[in-house]
Amino acid sequence: MSKQPARAAAASKRLAEDGDICPVCKSSRYLNSTMQFKINPACYHRMCDTCVERIFKRGNSTCPIAGCAKTLSWAKFRRATFEDLKIEREVDIRKTVMDVMNKKEEDFETLRDYNDYLEQVEEIAWNLILNIDVEATTGKLERWKQHQKAELDAGPPLASGKGATQRKASQSSKKKDEAETGFTFHGLKKRVAPVKEAPYDPWGGWSIAPQYYVLQDNYDVDWYKRIKTDVHHVAGGHSLQDYCSQALRDAFGGLGVFIEDEILARDTPSMDADVGTEHAVAAAMSGKDANMNVNMDDVF
Ligand SMILES: [Zn+2]
Ligand SMILES: [Zn+2]
Repeated sequence: MSKQPARAAAASKRLAEDGDICPVCKSSRYLNSTMQFKINPACYHRMCDTCVERIFKRGNSTCPIAGCAKTLSWAKFRRATFEDLKIEREVDIRKTVMDVMNKKEEDFETLRDYNDYLEQVEEIAWNLILNIDVEATTGKLERWKQHQKAELDAGPPLASGKGATQRKASQSSKKKDEAETGFTFHGLKKRVAPVKEAPYDPWGGWSIAPQYYVLQDNYDVDWYKRIKTDVHHVAGGHSLQDYCSQALRDAFGGLGVFIEDEILARDTPSMDADVGTEHAVAAAMSGKDANMNVNMDDVF
């Protein structure tokens, strides 16, 4: 047996021990099995949860690790997902960048434009990961975020008659806005806000408003004038308006019903006409033949 496995085992044991000792209070997980380690994304220094509670619970404080002067808040501490805290940090940075730089391939005119965009996103991420121009990069990212938000708030472009000239003007102003953020992306399509959803209509667009007449507020007829002034007609909550409405409905009730068409529909066998339609349902409910093609559009 060679010494190789023994040495590897010793190394891994030492690593485990290092990882199991809190660098702040030096307590070991070996003596306290419930001990957990936490990190804060401000500096990614690891410490045990007892230390976190003791030092930060009462308010923000400076990181106790020697050489780190970051002010940490208790609420930001969390358990690390990755063993390697460099990866943990990189994942966090990429998440932040992706939240802002979230364009998809279909947002670009060509694949080439999209790839160029991805390259810029990667550059941003690496600048932050390697601590290059952090302040400038974060500023750029924030400006881009605001620019995206403003573009979305402005809503879809107006479809007015000016057409091309207006589109050109908005294109150039868009380019200008984009340049102010520090980014210029070629072939980026204009972002369009989704159409606002209409309130729910339980009738599915069906309306009981009369199609063939409009109810007037007043009718210039002698007998109507007479009954209008006679309070007896409006006794007991009866409204003259209701009377007119009813009379008109009766008078126009037959319009829109074409008997020839219905006879034709009845005599012509059809496979799809009334299957699963409201007519078939209505006919089934009233016990009539589905081919009667009852006009349900005007129940009155
Ligand atoms: Zn500790
Ligand atoms: Zn620290």
